Amino acid sequence: MPDETVPFLDALLSRMKSAASPLRDTVTELWEKYRHLDDGNVASYIPELAKADPKWFGISIVSVNGQSVDAGDFEQEFTIQSVSKPFVFGMGLEEFGRDHVLSKIGVQPIGEAFNSITLDEASNRPFNPMINAGAIAAADLIAGKDFPARVTHLIDTFGRYCGRPVHVNSSVYASERATGHRNRAIGHLMLNFGMVGERIEETLDLYFQQCSIMVNSHDLAVMGATLAHGGVNPLTGVRAIKASYVKDLLSVMHTCGMYDYAGEWAYRVGIPAKSGVGGGVVAVVPGQVGIGLFSPKLDAKGNSVRAMKVCQDLSEKFGLHIFECGSAERSIVSQLSPVRSG
Ligand code: GLU
Repeated sequence: MPDETVPFLDALLSRMKSAASPLRDTVTELWEKYRHLDDGNVASYIPELAKADPKWFGISIVSVNGQSVDAGDFEQEFTIQSVSKPFVFGMGLEEFGRDHVLSKIGVQPIGEAFNSITLDEASNRPFNPMINAGAIAAADLIAGKDFPARVTHLIDTFGRYCGRPVHVNSSVYASERATGHRNRAIGHLMLNFGMVGERIEETLDLYFQQCSIMVNSHDLAVMGATLAHGGVNPLTGVRAIKASYVKDLLSVMHTCGMYDYAGEWAYRVGIPAKSGVGGGVVAVVPGQVGIGLFSPKLDAKGNSVRAMKVCQDLSEKFGLHIFECGSAERSIVSQLSPVRSG
Protein backbone atom coordinates (compact mmCIF):
# COMPACT_ATOMS: atom_id res chain seq x y z
CA MET A 1 0.00 0.00 0.00
CA PRO A 2 1.44 3.42 -0.90
CA ASP A 3 -0.22 4.97 2.17
CA GLU A 4 2.96 6.05 3.93
CA THR A 5 5.12 9.13 3.65
CA VAL A 6 7.72 8.70 0.94
CA PRO A 7 10.64 10.88 2.06
CA PHE A 8 12.74 10.35 -1.04
CA LEU A 9 10.10 12.27 -3.00
CA ASP A 10 11.03 15.43 -1.08
CA ALA A 11 14.60 15.13 -2.30
CA LEU A 12 13.42 14.31 -5.78
CA LEU A 13 11.09 17.29 -5.82
CA SER A 14 13.70 19.77 -4.75
CA ARG A 15 15.93 18.49 -7.57
CA MET A 16 13.05 18.83 -10.01
CA LYS A 17 12.49 22.44 -8.96
CA SER A 18 15.83 23.40 -10.41
CA ALA A 19 15.83 20.99 -13.35
CA ALA A 20 14.96 22.37 -16.76
CA SER A 21 12.08 20.64 -18.54
CA PRO A 22 10.06 21.34 -21.66
CA LEU A 23 6.92 21.50 -19.55
CA ARG A 24 8.45 24.16 -17.31
CA ASP A 25 9.18 26.20 -20.46
CA THR A 26 5.60 25.75 -21.66
CA VAL A 27 4.16 26.82 -18.32
CA THR A 28 6.40 29.90 -18.22
CA GLU A 29 5.39 30.77 -21.79
CA LEU A 30 1.69 30.45 -20.94
CA TRP A 31 2.13 32.60 -17.86
CA GLU A 32 3.85 35.27 -20.00
CA LYS A 33 1.23 34.94 -22.72
CA TYR A 34 -1.74 35.56 -20.45
CA ARG A 35 -0.46 37.66 -17.58
CA HIS A 36 -1.59 40.88 -19.24
CA LEU A 37 -5.00 39.53 -20.19
CA ASP A 38 -7.26 41.84 -18.23
CA ASP A 39 -10.78 40.66 -19.07
CA GLY A 40 -13.34 39.87 -16.39
CA ASN A 41 -14.04 41.05 -12.87
CA VAL A 42 -12.93 40.06 -9.40
CA ALA A 43 -15.82 38.55 -7.37
CA SER A 44 -17.34 41.19 -5.16
CA TYR A 45 -20.35 39.57 -3.44
CA ILE A 46 -18.38 39.86 -0.20
CA PRO A 47 -15.83 42.64 0.47
CA GLU A 48 -13.02 40.18 1.33
CA LEU A 49 -12.99 38.70 -2.17
CA ALA A 50 -13.08 42.14 -3.78
CA LYS A 51 -9.74 42.87 -2.10
CA ALA A 52 -7.96 40.33 -4.35
CA ASP A 53 -5.24 41.81 -6.56
CA PRO A 54 -6.42 41.32 -10.19
CA LYS A 55 -2.79 40.85 -11.24
CA TRP A 56 -2.32 37.64 -9.23
CA PHE A 57 -1.69 34.73 -11.56
CA GLY A 58 -0.34 31.33 -10.57
CA ILE A 59 0.05 28.16 -12.64
CA SER A 60 1.08 24.81 -11.16
CA ILE A 61 1.30 21.28 -12.51
CA VAL A 62 2.04 18.24 -10.36
CA SER A 63 2.48 14.80 -11.88
CA VAL A 64 1.43 11.45 -10.44
CA ASN A 65 5.10 10.68 -9.78
CA GLY A 66 5.46 13.81 -7.69
CA GLN A 67 7.27 16.13 -10.10
CA SER A 68 6.06 19.71 -10.21
CA VAL A 69 6.37 22.92 -12.17
CA ASP A 70 5.04 26.27 -10.96
CA ALA A 71 4.95 29.78 -12.39
CA GLY A 72 3.96 33.23 -11.17
CA ASP A 73 2.04 33.72 -7.92
CA PHE A 74 1.79 30.02 -7.13
CA GLU A 75 2.38 30.65 -3.43
CA GLN A 76 -0.32 33.31 -3.15
CA GLU A 77 -3.15 31.96 -1.01
CA PHE A 78 -6.84 32.49 -1.74
CA THR A 79 -10.11 30.90 -0.62
CA ILE A 80 -10.91 27.62 -2.34
CA GLN A 81 -14.65 28.40 -2.63
CA SER A 82 -16.48 26.01 -4.96
CA VAL A 83 -13.32 24.11 -5.89
CA SER A 84 -13.97 22.36 -2.57
CA LYS A 85 -17.23 20.83 -3.79
CA PRO A 86 -16.07 17.61 -5.49
CA PHE A 87 -13.80 16.81 -2.54
CA VAL A 88 -16.62 17.14 0.00
CA PHE A 89 -18.84 15.01 -2.26
CA GLY A 90 -16.05 12.42 -1.99
CA MET A 91 -16.16 12.58 1.81
CA GLY A 92 -19.87 11.70 1.72
CA LEU A 93 -19.22 8.78 -0.64
CA GLU A 94 -16.54 7.39 1.63
CA GLU A 95 -18.68 7.76 4.72
CA PHE A 96 -22.05 6.53 3.44
CA GLY A 97 -21.45 4.79 0.10
CA ARG A 98 -22.74 5.54 -3.36
CA ASP A 99 -26.37 4.41 -2.93
CA HIS A 100 -27.07 6.58 0.08
CA VAL A 101 -25.31 9.64 -1.34
CA LEU A 102 -27.15 9.33 -4.65
CA SER A 103 -30.46 9.12 -2.78
CA LYS A 104 -29.69 12.63 -1.48
CA ILE A 105 -27.81 14.27 -4.38
CA GLY A 106 -28.20 13.76 -8.14
CA VAL A 107 -25.46 13.80 -10.75
CA GLN A 108 -27.40 15.61 -13.44
CA PRO A 109 -26.05 18.84 -15.00
CA ILE A 110 -28.46 21.77 -15.11
CA GLY A 111 -28.31 24.95 -17.09
CA GLU A 112 -29.19 27.11 -14.10
CA ALA A 113 -27.06 29.29 -11.88
CA PHE A 114 -24.87 27.58 -9.28
CA ASN A 115 -26.92 29.17 -6.50
CA SER A 116 -30.38 28.51 -7.92
CA ILE A 117 -33.06 27.53 -5.43
CA THR A 118 -34.15 24.46 -7.38
CA LEU A 119 -34.59 20.79 -6.55
CA ASP A 120 -35.48 17.91 -8.86
CA GLU A 121 -39.29 17.84 -8.66
CA ALA A 122 -39.54 14.07 -8.90
CA SER A 123 -36.96 13.15 -6.26
CA ASN A 124 -36.56 16.40 -4.26
CA ARG A 125 -32.81 15.97 -4.68
CA PRO A 126 -30.50 18.79 -5.66
CA PHE A 127 -29.44 18.16 -9.25
CA ASN A 128 -25.72 17.67 -8.67
CA PRO A 129 -23.01 18.24 -6.04
CA MET A 130 -21.33 21.10 -7.94
CA ILE A 131 -24.19 23.56 -7.42
CA ASN A 132 -24.73 25.07 -3.99
CA ALA A 133 -27.79 22.93 -3.17
CA GLY A 134 -25.90 19.72 -3.87
CA ALA A 135 -22.80 20.99 -2.09
CA ILE A 136 -24.82 21.85 1.03
CA ALA A 137 -26.41 18.37 0.91
CA ALA A 138 -22.88 16.94 0.63
CA ALA A 139 -21.72 19.05 3.59
CA ASP A 140 -24.64 17.55 5.54
CA LEU A 141 -22.92 14.18 5.11
CA ILE A 142 -19.65 15.31 6.74
CA ALA A 143 -19.53 12.98 9.70
CA GLY A 144 -18.70 13.91 13.29
CA LYS A 145 -20.38 13.95 16.68
CA ASP A 146 -20.52 17.75 16.88
CA PHE A 147 -19.53 20.86 14.92
CA PRO A 148 -15.86 20.96 16.00
CA ALA A 149 -15.45 17.26 15.14
CA ARG A 150 -17.00 17.82 11.71
CA VAL A 151 -14.75 20.85 11.05
CA THR A 152 -11.70 18.80 12.07
CA HIS A 153 -12.75 16.00 9.73
CA LEU A 154 -13.15 18.53 6.90
CA ILE A 155 -9.83 20.28 7.51
CA ASP A 156 -7.92 17.01 7.94
CA THR A 157 -9.30 15.68 4.66
CA PHE A 158 -8.24 18.79 2.75
CA GLY A 159 -4.87 18.57 4.49
CA ARG A 160 -4.40 15.05 3.11
CA TYR A 161 -5.27 16.25 -0.40
CA CYS A 162 -2.88 19.22 -0.16
CA GLY A 163 -0.12 17.35 1.65
CA ARG A 164 0.10 20.09 4.27
CA PRO A 165 -2.10 21.47 7.05
CA VAL A 166 -4.73 23.91 5.77
CA HIS A 167 -6.75 26.54 7.62
CA VAL A 168 -9.93 28.56 7.24
CA ASN A 169 -9.79 32.30 6.52
CA SER A 170 -11.89 33.55 9.43
CA SER A 171 -12.89 36.88 7.89
CA VAL A 172 -14.08 35.26 4.64
CA TYR A 173 -15.93 32.68 6.72
CA ALA A 174 -17.58 35.43 8.80
CA SER A 175 -18.65 37.28 5.63
CA GLU A 176 -19.97 34.13 3.92
CA ARG A 177 -21.91 33.39 7.09
CA ALA A 178 -23.27 36.92 7.48
CA THR A 179 -24.42 37.21 3.86
CA GLY A 180 -25.35 33.61 3.03
CA HIS A 181 -29.12 34.08 3.11
CA ARG A 182 -29.63 32.40 -0.23
CA ASN A 183 -27.65 29.36 0.85
CA ARG A 184 -29.66 29.32 4.07
CA ALA A 185 -32.87 29.35 1.99
CA ILE A 186 -31.57 26.41 -0.08
CA GLY A 187 -30.64 24.53 3.11
CA HIS A 188 -34.05 25.03 4.67
CA LEU A 189 -35.85 24.06 1.45
CA MET A 190 -33.93 20.77 1.52
CA LEU A 191 -34.75 20.35 5.21
CA ASN A 192 -38.41 20.79 4.32
CA PHE A 193 -38.12 17.83 1.93
CA GLY A 194 -36.11 15.71 4.35
CA MET A 195 -33.02 15.76 2.13
CA VAL A 196 -30.76 17.07 4.91
CA GLY A 197 -30.71 16.53 8.66
CA GLU A 198 -32.07 18.79 11.41
CA ARG A 199 -28.63 20.28 12.12
CA ILE A 200 -28.90 22.33 8.92
CA GLU A 201 -27.65 25.60 10.50
CA GLU A 202 -24.52 23.78 11.63
CA THR A 203 -24.16 22.20 8.19
CA LEU A 204 -24.44 25.62 6.54
CA ASP A 205 -21.64 26.85 8.80
CA LEU A 206 -19.61 23.86 7.72
CA TYR A 207 -20.30 24.73 4.07
CA PHE A 208 -19.18 28.34 4.70
CA GLN A 209 -16.03 26.97 6.36
CA GLN A 210 -15.22 24.67 3.45
CA CYS A 211 -15.54 27.60 1.00
CA SER A 212 -13.14 29.64 3.17
CA ILE A 213 -10.23 27.16 3.24
CA MET A 214 -7.01 28.83 2.08
CA VAL A 215 -5.01 27.23 -0.75
CA ASN A 216 -2.60 28.30 -3.48
CA SER A 217 -2.30 27.10 -7.07
CA HIS A 218 0.34 24.55 -6.07
CA ASP A 219 -2.07 23.06 -3.50
CA LEU A 220 -4.77 22.78 -6.16
CA ALA A 221 -2.33 20.99 -8.48
CA VAL A 222 -1.46 18.55 -5.67
CA MET A 223 -5.17 17.97 -5.01
CA GLY A 224 -5.71 17.32 -8.72
CA ALA A 225 -2.66 15.06 -8.88
CA THR A 226 -4.06 13.09 -5.94
CA LEU A 227 -7.18 12.35 -7.99
CA ALA A 228 -5.06 11.68 -11.10
CA HIS A 229 -3.09 9.20 -8.96
CA GLY A 230 -6.09 7.16 -7.87
CA GLY A 231 -6.62 9.00 -4.58
CA VAL A 232 -3.07 8.84 -3.19
CA ASN A 233 -1.25 12.15 -2.72
CA PRO A 234 1.85 11.75 -4.91
CA LEU A 235 3.97 13.99 -2.66
CA THR A 236 3.23 12.34 0.68
CA GLY A 237 2.08 8.85 -0.33
CA VAL A 238 -0.95 9.36 1.92
CA ARG A 239 -4.34 8.25 0.62
CA ALA A 240 -6.96 11.06 0.58
CA ILE A 241 -9.88 9.05 -0.89
CA LYS A 242 -10.59 5.44 -1.80
CA ALA A 243 -9.54 4.67 -5.37
CA SER A 244 -13.01 3.36 -6.20
CA TYR A 245 -14.60 6.81 -5.65
CA VAL A 246 -12.16 8.90 -7.68
CA LYS A 247 -14.15 8.35 -10.85
CA ASP A 248 -17.29 9.65 -9.11
CA LEU A 249 -15.57 12.98 -8.44
CA LEU A 250 -14.07 13.22 -11.91
CA SER A 251 -17.42 12.45 -13.55
CA VAL A 252 -19.26 15.28 -11.82
CA MET A 253 -16.33 17.63 -12.43
CA HIS A 254 -16.42 16.72 -16.11
CA THR A 255 -20.17 17.26 -16.52
CA CYS A 256 -20.88 20.03 -13.99
CA GLY A 257 -17.58 21.54 -12.79
CA MET A 258 -17.35 24.83 -14.70
CA TYR A 259 -20.64 26.52 -13.84
CA ASP A 260 -22.86 27.21 -16.86
CA TYR A 261 -19.90 26.70 -19.15
CA ALA A 262 -19.52 23.03 -18.12
CA GLY A 263 -20.81 21.50 -21.35
CA GLU A 264 -18.79 23.82 -23.51
CA TRP A 265 -15.73 23.14 -21.36
CA ALA A 266 -16.20 19.36 -21.69
CA TYR A 267 -16.45 19.82 -25.44
CA ARG A 268 -13.60 22.26 -25.98
CA VAL A 269 -11.10 21.43 -23.21
CA GLY A 270 -12.16 17.93 -22.21
CA ILE A 271 -10.39 17.79 -18.83
CA PRO A 272 -12.43 17.25 -15.64
CA ALA A 273 -12.16 20.52 -13.72
CA LYS A 274 -13.77 22.62 -11.00
CA SER A 275 -13.59 26.34 -10.55
CA GLY A 276 -14.48 28.70 -7.73
CA VAL A 277 -15.29 32.39 -7.38
CA GLY A 278 -11.99 32.99 -5.59
CA GLY A 279 -10.34 32.53 -9.01
CA GLY A 280 -9.04 28.99 -8.48
CA VAL A 281 -9.39 26.09 -10.89
CA VAL A 282 -8.34 22.46 -10.39
CA ALA A 283 -8.09 20.25 -13.48
CA VAL A 284 -7.24 16.56 -13.60
CA VAL A 285 -5.63 14.56 -16.38
CA PRO A 286 -6.25 11.03 -15.07
CA GLY A 287 -3.08 8.98 -14.69
CA GLN A 288 -0.90 11.97 -15.56
CA VAL A 289 -1.15 15.31 -13.76
CA GLY A 290 -3.15 17.70 -11.65
CA ILE A 291 -3.27 21.32 -12.82
CA GLY A 292 -3.85 24.16 -10.36
CA LEU A 293 -4.56 27.69 -11.55
CA PHE A 294 -5.29 30.94 -9.84
CA SER A 295 -6.23 34.33 -11.21
CA PRO A 296 -9.05 36.30 -9.57
CA LYS A 297 -10.69 37.95 -12.58
CA LEU A 298 -13.79 35.96 -13.55
CA ASP A 299 -15.91 35.90 -16.68
CA ALA A 300 -19.70 36.38 -16.55
CA LYS A 301 -20.20 32.69 -15.73
CA GLY A 302 -17.82 32.80 -12.75
CA ASN A 303 -14.76 31.06 -14.22
CA SER A 304 -11.27 32.58 -14.00
CA VAL A 305 -10.51 34.07 -17.41
CA ARG A 306 -6.77 33.40 -17.44
CA ALA A 307 -7.14 29.93 -15.91
CA MET A 308 -9.49 28.90 -18.69
CA LYS A 309 -7.11 30.12 -21.37
CA VAL A 310 -4.20 28.22 -19.85
CA CYS A 311 -6.21 24.98 -19.61
CA GLN A 312 -7.43 25.32 -23.15
CA ASP A 313 -3.88 25.85 -24.46
CA LEU A 314 -2.48 22.93 -22.43
CA SER A 315 -5.27 20.67 -23.66
CA GLU A 316 -4.63 21.58 -27.29
CA LYS A 317 -0.85 21.45 -27.07
CA PHE A 318 -0.66 18.06 -25.36
CA GLY A 319 -3.84 16.44 -26.71
CA LEU A 320 -5.32 16.20 -23.20
CA HIS A 321 -9.00 16.05 -24.15
CA ILE A 322 -10.17 12.81 -22.54
CA PHE A 323 -11.75 11.68 -25.79
CA GLU A 324 -8.64 12.43 -27.83
CA CYS A 325 -7.34 9.28 -29.50
CA GLY A 326 -3.98 10.26 -28.06
CA SER A 327 -0.54 9.03 -28.88
CA ALA A 328 2.01 8.23 -26.17
CA GLU A 329 4.61 10.69 -27.48
CA ARG A 330 2.20 13.57 -26.90
CA SER A 331 1.78 12.60 -23.26
CA ILE A 332 2.22 15.63 -21.00
CA VAL A 333 4.32 13.57 -18.60
CA SER A 334 6.98 13.02 -21.28
CA GLN A 335 7.50 16.79 -21.21
CA LEU A 336 8.96 16.65 -17.71
CA SER A 337 12.64 15.98 -17.02
CA PRO A 338 13.49 12.30 -16.68
CA VAL A 339 13.15 10.86 -13.16
CA ARG A 340 16.59 9.97 -11.84
CA SER A 341 17.02 7.25 -9.28
CA GLY A 342 19.36 7.17 -6.27
N1 GLU B 1 -19.25 30.69 -1.09
C1 GLU B 1 -19.86 30.76 -2.36
C2 GLU B 1 -21.34 30.53 -2.30
O1 GLU B 1 -21.78 29.58 -1.68
C3 GLU B 1 -19.22 29.79 -3.31
C4 GLU B 1 -19.34 30.33 -4.64
C5 GLU B 1 -18.52 29.62 -5.69
O2 GLU B 1 -17.28 29.54 -5.62
O3 GLU B 1 -19.17 29.15 -6.63
O4 GLU B 1 -22.10 31.29 -2.85
